[in-house]
Amino acid sequence: MSCRGAEKRVALVRGDGVGPEVIDGALAVLEAAGAGLEFVPVELGYGRWKRTGKAIAEEDLELIKTCHSVLLGAITTPPDPEYRSVLLRLRQELDLYANIRPFSAPELDFVIVRENTEGMYSGVEKLDEEEATTLRVITYRGSLRIAERACAIASKRQRLTIVHKSNVLKSDRLFLKICEETARRWDVPFESMLVDAAAYNLVINPKRFDVMVMTNLFGDILSDEAAGIVGGLGLCPSANLGDKYALFEPIHGSAPDIAGKGIANPIGAIRSAAMMLEWFGDAEKARMIEEAVEWSLAQKVTTPDLGGCCSTKEVAEAISKRLAWSD
Ligand code: ATP
Repeated sequence: MSCRGAEKRVALVRGDGVGPEVIDGALAVLEAAGAGLEFVPVELGYGRWKRTGKAIAEEDLELIKTCHSVLLGAITTPPDPEYRSVLLRLRQELDLYANIRPFSAPELDFVIVRENTEGMYSGVEKLDEEEATTLRVITYRGSLRIAERACAIASKRQRLTIVHKSNVLKSDRLFLKICEETARRWDVPFESMLVDAAAYNLVINPKRFDVMVMTNLFGDILSDEAAGIVGGLGLCPSANLGDKYALFEPIHGSAPDIAGKGIANPIGAIRSAAMMLEWFGDAEKARMIEEAVEWSLAQKVTTPDLGGCCSTKEVAEAISKRLAWSD
């Protein structure tokens, strides 16, 4: 996956909670790697909503669309009925339909490809005193394009697991059929697996997985499970890709319980920045950052979530210094 040749102009959304802290860590590492990017700060999120009554404006979207990618820390979505999720809006407005979430740990390496725009998050909902309904919309177009993305990734790896619940949900019969047809067309070895079995197998034997494709809510839930399996939410990066735009963010949320303490793990954000460099066609710098991250983990230069006693800044500095040495 890359957009080689594009101008490297990045919308920088620090966001809420630990977002600004982990983004500062990622920026330090990008600078040490000599990434040479132009950053365009864009303030979005709950903090801004509390201050101004608006979490995101049309002008912000226009500005973001002048950039080729977005690097985002984290945004709080409060349980306030007046507040509309900024992340959902960004995913829909920029049509970021493919959420790519790689998970790695010693002897573990698999990728979750999550459909990002429809399914349970289609926004077709009704809530009243007597009844509440959320419509699970699965379309041919939505399933085909995520299946294509997953097969493109699986074709360079080993195999694809199509995760579904088609024994109960008619909407998943369509999703499964399209994924199977696409995998056959790509000549990618594949299997299908019920989501409950996938949840179980991830815990029992995560090594059996390579590339997994699934609908929106299943991907949301299994990603957090996968993060727990590889060591924690703070470690895991993600790319949200469309045909035109791309957004990179750690998979964790704004972690209000530790925000402002300087102890958030910056590695998910740093790895997201590395994924962005790969997207820009700079696979070598991305690989160097990943190696420096692995070195810091092996040296146990870690934040408290991984049992260490380093601050966010100390971890980012250690990774940056390692990059400078390996230059
Ligand atoms: P939000 O409402 O924004 O999703 P949340 O607290 O519900 O926030 P997460 O932010 O994903 O969800 O946090 C879940 C747990 O993981 C929290 O205990 C949090 O402290 C921890 N966590 C999340 N990100 C990190 C991180 N970067 N470093 C350390 N711990 C983290």
